[in-house]
Amino acid sequence: MGATDADSMKKKEMVHSPILTYFSVITLLSTCPPFVILLWYTMVHLDGSLLNTFNYLMEHGVEGFVNIWPKPTAIAWKIIACYGLFEAALQLWLPGKRVEGPISPTGNRPVYKANGVAAYVVTLITYISLWWFGIFNPTVVYDHLGEIYSALIFGSFVFCIFLYIKGHVAPSSTDSGSSGNIIFDFYWGMELYPRIGKNFDIKVFTNCRFGMMSWAVLAVTYCIKQYERDGKVADSMAVSTLLMLVYITKFFWWEAGYWNTMDIAHDRAGFYICWGCLVWVPSIYTSPGMYLVNHPVNLGAQLAISILIAGILCIYINYDCDRQRQEFRRTNGKSLVWGKAPSKIVASYTTTKGETKTSLLLTSGWWGLSRHFHYVPEIMAAFFWTVPALFDNFLPYFYFVFLTILLFDRAKRDDDRCRSKYGKYWKTYCNKVPYRIIPGIY
Ligand code: NDP
Repeated sequence: MGATDADSMKKKEMVHSPILTYFSVITLLSTCPPFVILLWYTMVHLDGSLLNTFNYLMEHGVEGFVNIWPKPTAIAWKIIACYGLFEAALQLWLPGKRVEGPISPTGNRPVYKANGVAAYVVTLITYISLWWFGIFNPTVVYDHLGEIYSALIFGSFVFCIFLYIKGHVAPSSTDSGSSGNIIFDFYWGMELYPRIGKNFDIKVFTNCRFGMMSWAVLAVTYCIKQYERDGKVADSMAVSTLLMLVYITKFFWWEAGYWNTMDIAHDRAGFYICWGCLVWVPSIYTSPGMYLVNHPVNLGAQLAISILIAGILCIYINYDCDRQRQEFRRTNGKSLVWGKAPSKIVASYTTTKGETKTSLLLTSGWWGLSRHFHYVPEIMAAFFWTVPALFDNFLPYFYFVFLTILLFDRAKRDDDRCRSKYGKYWKTYCNKVPYRIIPGIY
């Protein structure tokens, strides 16, 4: 790896001060796995109440916590293996259009097969059919959820070690390198576009086909569990699940656009992104539904429909923000934005190979309201699929709070990255669009 690559790696990791970076990396590596288990245990066995968990831990201490940590059983490994292999097969073999990703920092252009919608439809139809025809009951997944999370925690950790070794000994492209620090290399990852063979993209698998797909599969699982136990699905569960499924459908509809975002184009394959998508998404992102299984609130038609409409509106706005930026870039700034010619900045930058390139920055439409306005409807949508749980417990809102912190941090990380990429052009953008996320406030 050249000096410039190493420099850019270091800069990426040191967006915050070095001490804060070390502290947050070590804290996240050591606290996320036990948190997943605690969250599941609280949701499923302690009525979703943090107070119950606190009392339990006070009474039983560390030993009590070790006792609730489920062993990864054979059935858990089987469920994960069947699901993972099924998704990998769909990713490899379902037909899809050839799509090119954005130019990477070392000048490569990754190529993908856009078959996400097909994989999503096939997955849901297969899963629901297995239940409908009595071949496999999804309640088995709910009943072994703790063991599945436990297996995912350990399995994904081993997978991240594999990514670290692969990054050192067999990188798939020149978009790879070490920061010189083993912890950062493991945490942030080494390769931007790791692949197995020529066609199997690891980040598409971890982020989209395993992570995001598991969100839909588990949302449906929670509904089925409630239905099998109570003989009906409460309107709160129906609204929350519908909103999550609309959001995930939007995700797969726009999956090729996702391949242009920070997760894929800037964040390397390491613990942060891959472990996050393999474990954090199936556990934390799905947690409002996990909570609702045992808390079937009856909202009434009027409230349920209002929440549903508000949530769909937020998902639509979030989608439209992403679409606007993507269309603007795809048409080289020629697409109409809110019915008018877009206002823009032509920003030049230098790649790590020293080549000068230009990018367009959109400064009107949603992107003229604030520099990351799309995070507002993203956060609000999460609120709307959680609020059917009402306000008896805080825990179902954990994802909403986590997402808010994640996206505020992400906006800062992205601003810092864009500032160092575009220099004076980014400054011009900030002068023109002064707010980072919430227009008029922040
Ligand atoms: P973006 O899709 O906003 O991508 C940011 C990149 O866009 C920047 O790095 C820059 O890249 C380019 N860019 C920035 N400003 C402009 C502009 N004015 N005009 C044109 N291009 C610009 O970031 P995210 O990856 O954060 O978000 C993508 C989607 O994913 C959003 O809908 C977000 O809400 C969602 N999301 C959801 C999360 C979740 O956990 N639920 C987490 C994160 C995101 P370049 O170098 O190309 O110029």
